[in-house]
Amino acid sequence: MATTVAVATMKVAQVPNPGADFQIVEREIPKPDAGHVRIKVQACGVCHSDVLTKDGLWPGIQYPRVPGHEVAGIIDEVGAGVSAWTKGQRAGVGWHGGHDNTCRECRRGDFRNCINQKICGISYDGGYQQYMVAPVEALVAIPETLRDVDAAPLLCAGITTYNALRHSGAMPGDLVAVLGIGGLGHLGIQFANKFGYKVVAIGRGSEDASLAKKLGASEYIDNQSTNATEALQKLGGARVILATAPNSKAMSELIDGLGPNGELMVIGATFDPIQVTPVQLINGSKTIQGWAAGTPADSEDTLRFAELSGVRPMIETYPLEKAAEAYARMLSGKAQFRVVLTM
Ligand SMILES: [Zn+2]
Ligand SMILES: [Zn+2]
Repeated sequence: MATTVAVATMKVAQVPNPGADFQIVEREIPKPDAGHVRIKVQACGVCHSDVLTKDGLWPGIQYPRVPGHEVAGIIDEVGAGVSAWTKGQRAGVGWHGGHDNTCRECRRGDFRNCINQKICGISYDGGYQQYMVAPVEALVAIPETLRDVDAAPLLCAGITTYNALRHSGAMPGDLVAVLGIGGLGHLGIQFANKFGYKVVAIGRGSEDASLAKKLGASEYIDNQSTNATEALQKLGGARVILATAPNSKAMSELIDGLGPNGELMVIGATFDPIQVTPVQLINGSKTIQGWAAGTPADSEDTLRFAELSGVRPMIETYPLEKAAEAYARMLSGKAQFRVVLTM
């Protein structure tokens, strides 16, 4: 006797081929393998780095692929051997999508630099779908009072600014400038303020001045009408400039705004070169450092700090079915400030 088994399906926003438009398709709900859990996705942030998946700019992506590395949801199934996570628990996944625990960097505990690092939404299907499967080492516990739509952007934009700042060497009371008031910058200003820095926001035009102050900046510099380097020097020079705007020219121009032992902390990703002379760095022992997100444990620190301090992303939400529209909105640079898909 033939029996028909109803297959449970879910909605997925997938990229069928590099550069192709998003497709909304039905897929069978996946089952988690050993060492993995299935997450019922509640929200997923749309990050500019999703362009890597959308346009095939990261080597080795297999298509169709589901982007999304700012995932917040509820664990609804656990695979064999999973003991530290349970069904019904809130969990998320950020950029750090897994590590092998065996390479030299992992054996040193430097999971962030695992040579076989997996990236959620690149190495495997990410959060632009109703259910996703993730390895346990990528999971981030979400605190009770944080909404999914707020937790999601904190798992990439949030952790990147939080982690870069807390590793920058700036101490409470130090002058910290945040270049760019966008998806990263609006979080960077808030974290910098809550860390006890004197925060200078640097933007283009005068229209962001009041928002920057509301977010916690004590000064706002309009980079178009004011020489930001001179303005920073008048304030004593920045201990840290958190460069969130992906604009190498603006970064280069600001290096002389650093004070002694100052550091340009680079998180705005672009392929254009930063220009600096050795003398600029030698005088005052200045440094330029890049920073990428962090581990799931760093993400949990970020979420806990956000919960304690009230730091929240400003978001625009779109339903999963409108993933293409949400992605276009993110690309336009006009979103205030993070676009989040809800399922
Ligand atoms: Zn991201
Ligand atoms: Zn490794």
